[in-house]
Amino acid sequence: MQVPAQFEYQRARSVEHAIALLARHGPETRVVAGGHSLIPMMKLRLAQPEMLIDINDLTGLAGIDVADGQLRLGAMVRHAELLDSAQAGALVPMLHDAERVIADPVVRNRGTIGGSVCQADPSEDLSGAFSALRATAVIQGADGTREVAMREFFTGPYETVVAPAELLVQLRIPLWSTGSAYVKVDRRSGDWAVAAAAAAVALGVDGRVTEVGIGLTAVGADGFVAAEAEDFLRGRQANAENFAAAGAIAAQHCRPSADQRGPADYKRHLAGELTARALAGAATRALSVGVGVG
Ligand SMILES: Cc1cc2nc3c(=O)[nH]c(=O)nc-3n(C[C@H](O)[C@H](O)[C@H](O)COP(=O)(O)OP(=O)(O)OC[C@H]3O[C@@H](n4cnc5c(N)ncnc54)[C@H](O)[C@@H]3O)c2cc1C
Repeated sequence: MQVPAQFEYQRARSVEHAIALLARHGPETRVVAGGHSLIPMMKLRLAQPEMLIDINDLTGLAGIDVADGQLRLGAMVRHAELLDSAQAGALVPMLHDAERVIADPVVRNRGTIGGSVCQADPSEDLSGAFSALRATAVIQGADGTREVAMREFFTGPYETVVAPAELLVQLRIPLWSTGSAYVKVDRRSGDWAVAAAAAAVALGVDGRVTEVGIGLTAVGADGFVAAEAEDFLRGRQANAENFAAAGAIAAQHCRPSADQRGPADYKRHLAGELTARALAGAATRALSVGVGVG
């Protein structure tokens, strides 16, 4: 049986308390949220923190609401809570598409959205989704809070801009899109993505794409974003031909690597195909609620 190396454990009483504990105990300290990524890594000795700060009692990090034209998700919102939120599903259907295909109910009941993005696994489904939506991350430290665009949040595989004595407290999704969708190919139900794509669109009255966000998961896209495909599509008609062309551009610019989930060429093919499908799904939803903010 795999067991973690020895570590100390403390439960934080508030966000400020958690930040103070992180600062006091130094860089070998980690917060634990759902524990579904950190604990397996500790068992495999891929992570060996000397101190764990449990943030599960921090009610200030819970909750889903809408304010200032943004859907706001506390960092400790569990995957299952996001999936159960009718408000989130209605405003940003992509989030429900993504949550339905993350792992299984056991993982979703415990794992958090904050833990997902802080883990920064290249295959994490919500990273591509939040980047496509142009979400921002609210990060708190001893000197207060700062807001960072999700597109600048990831600094590399398993690395983010969150400093050792900081906490991610909230994710904010601006409600600019009128349709969004997330599509994923996995080897079996609940598995990590072979590849996945997220798309959010706003359409003008003439059927043109006035704004678009495209996220890619598990295919080595910079910041989980297909920026060149977004640039191509903005201002063009929302139709299958343009979606296929945007998919081809997304495929061209990503850098998938071969692994047990498939060869690089297959993943590149999926990146293109899934981008086109996610865009078509997002546009269909936008048209079903009326044209966008144009
Ligand atoms: C069997 C299995 C299958 C899975 N399949 C998928 C899948 O298909 N798709 C997918 O996207 N994910 C999948 N996951 C991952 C799952 O979504 C986890 O919930 C997620 O990776 C981590 O969330 P957590 O709350 O458990 O974080 P934890 O494991 O508690 O923490 C992860 C990391 O984030 C840090 N952290 C956590 N919260 C904060 C915070 N608020 N501020 C700063 N740092 C923080 C921790 O210190 C740690 O470094 C799977 C996990 C398992 C176990």
